[in-house]
Amino acid sequence: MENKPYIVAGPCSVESRGQLKSVVEALCRLPQVEMVRCGVWKPRTHPGGFEGLGEKALTWMEELKDEYPEVRFCCEVARPDHVELALRHGVDAIWIGARTTANPFMVQEITEALRGSSVSMMVKNAPSPDVDLWIGAIERCRKVGIIDIKAIHRGFELFRNSGYRNTPLWEVPIELRRRMPEIPILCDPSHIAGRREGIGELSQTALDLGFDGLMVEVHPAPDEALTDARQQVTPAALEAILSRLVIRQLDSPSSDMQLSLLRGQIDNIDCQLLHLLMERFEVVRQIADVKKQSNMALFQPKRWDSLLQGHLAAGAELGLSEAFVRGIFEKIHTESIRVQREQQGGESTT
Ligand code: PEP
Ligand code: MN
Repeated sequence: MENKPYIVAGPCSVESRGQLKSVVEALCRLPQVEMVRCGVWKPRTHPGGFEGLGEKALTWMEELKDEYPEVRFCCEVARPDHVELALRHGVDAIWIGARTTANPFMVQEITEALRGSSVSMMVKNAPSPDVDLWIGAIERCRKVGIIDIKAIHRGFELFRNSGYRNTPLWEVPIELRRRMPEIPILCDPSHIAGRREGIGELSQTALDLGFDGLMVEVHPAPDEALTDARQQVTPAALEAILSRLVIRQLDSPSSDMQLSLLRGQIDNIDCQLLHLLMERFEVVRQIADVKKQSNMALFQPKRWDSLLQGHLAAGAELGLSEAFVRGIFEKIHTESIRVQREQQGGESTT
């Protein structure tokens, strides 16, 4: 069975009636595009930037709905008064942005303003990789009776973003899928990549992982955009990206057997990894005892640095990516400190 991705596309921000009309005209020629996104209130990290045209942009959207009755529109809301205006101007769907999802008080107020409405909703993940904040926002939408709810994965702001604007951390949307399998998940490759060159590859990765669609920022003249200029693409570039996407089958009986053999191998390797980790932490406990006897600090920065450098070099020789090896050993080291504190009778930090 073919699995058609749900595509939302449109400008980061509505900047003029002409700009919106030009995007709408181009996008309605792309059969894959289901909905036009238009940012009308922009959450800006610093004051003084372009904050969106608000209700004026919604009136242009409403006029374009008359001209192009088949086009559906969505916009971001961040406050209850935005909800009221968006509904009054007939938007088909609204979404909650990353910074809003992070604030349960705000999500509560926004969803209260939606009670009784049958509008569709999309909920972006919060900037931090906290799947419960994401789930909590979706639950709040459900509580006020919203039925059509999608999640949007837009990546995470980390201490080290390693080449992305917002690191994807695919395991977080995968956990959302495990806990809420009925919620479709879109990927926003524009805000993950932060640069238009990364959008095609991220979109393919998302589809390969079973995402249900994409939200992509599209602008008629991306380099002149008032917000997110580096990551917007022209409608023609979007068309090229979509035409190159390989749409995967949901399942394929002929490869089932081969896959189960390979998955069996993975399960064995994972089991060995877990046993090795358990052995490593037994040694770590002995180290904690020695450090306690000789009154040494738990964290030894020089030892940690030389261990990490050594593993990065060995990992590179084995063809493993630096970010991956670093991530694994940072996690192991953090756990190692926690285990040593526990062993020495200190308070657990988690
Ligand atoms: C946006 O979609 O334009 C936006 C502001 O994104 P995010 O909430 O993901 O930062
Ligand atoms: Mn944007």
